Amino acid sequence: MTSSPVVELVNVTRSFPGPPEVQALRSVNLRVEEGDYLSIVGPSGSGKSTMLNLLGLLDRPSVGEYYLNGTLTSVLNEEQRAALRGGTIGFVFQSFHLLPHRPVLDNVMLATLYSGVPRAERETRARAALDRVGLSHRLEFLPSTLSGGERQRVAVARAVVSSPRMLLADEPTGNLDETTSGEVMDLFEELHSDGLTLVVITHDAAVSSRAERTIRISDGRLEELG
Ligand code: ADP
Ligand code: MG
Repeated sequence: MTSSPVVELVNVTRSFPGPPEVQALRSVNLRVEEGDYLSIVGPSGSGKSTMLNLLGLLDRPSVGEYYLNGTLTSVLNEEQRAALRGGTIGFVFQSFHLLPHRPVLDNVMLATLYSGVPRAERETRARAALDRVGLSHRLEFLPSTLSGGERQRVAVARAVVSSPRMLLADEPTGNLDETTSGEVMDLFEELHSDGLTLVVITHDAAVSSRAERTIRISDGRLEELG
């Protein structure tokens, strides 16, 4: 049995009306296969955030088609898109987005609040996700008492607790120093070897060099490197 690619963009253009009109992505084609570890690099203004928003179903192409998990996304309504997003993608952002007044375990459990899974099972899964990122000893800590690297690892646990097919990370090391960003990269490599599909948007060459595939965006066009 062959599975569909996780991501398939077919001649996707995203333009903003202006004036002047800006074509943030220009007739872009991209396939991300199950198990790929892909980085997307490019200077400021090149289209990275636009790409992330499209891949994350937070925005729609102006022209062209996006298949996520084999599903043609343009025909889905917002509710269907939210369901597909929730079941397929785990997000990691630059600024962690943890709830400051909730302990680590709660932060991860909250990600599955509306999943229909019973509370006890949600807790079991959250503990397993935190174990996976090496934070079993921090379950009752508040985010403010953790280092930046630990906070980002909590955010990664939260992203993987619902067993997404793809992790989509936007500048995941943007707020971290070299050592702690190395920690997060090590974790990404582990998740990748467990079979998770990873797409990491970054302007950091050290981060992009850890991926198996690198795509450079410039002026809304993609070029695969290497
Ligand atoms: P990056 O994330 O690589 O810095 P963006 O994807 O944010 O780049 O932006 C790509 C281009 O699209 C830029 O020229 C930007 O000004 C333009 N752009 C992005 N979002 C909008 C928007 N909502 N309205 C108008 N122009 C936009
Ligand atoms: Mg951006």
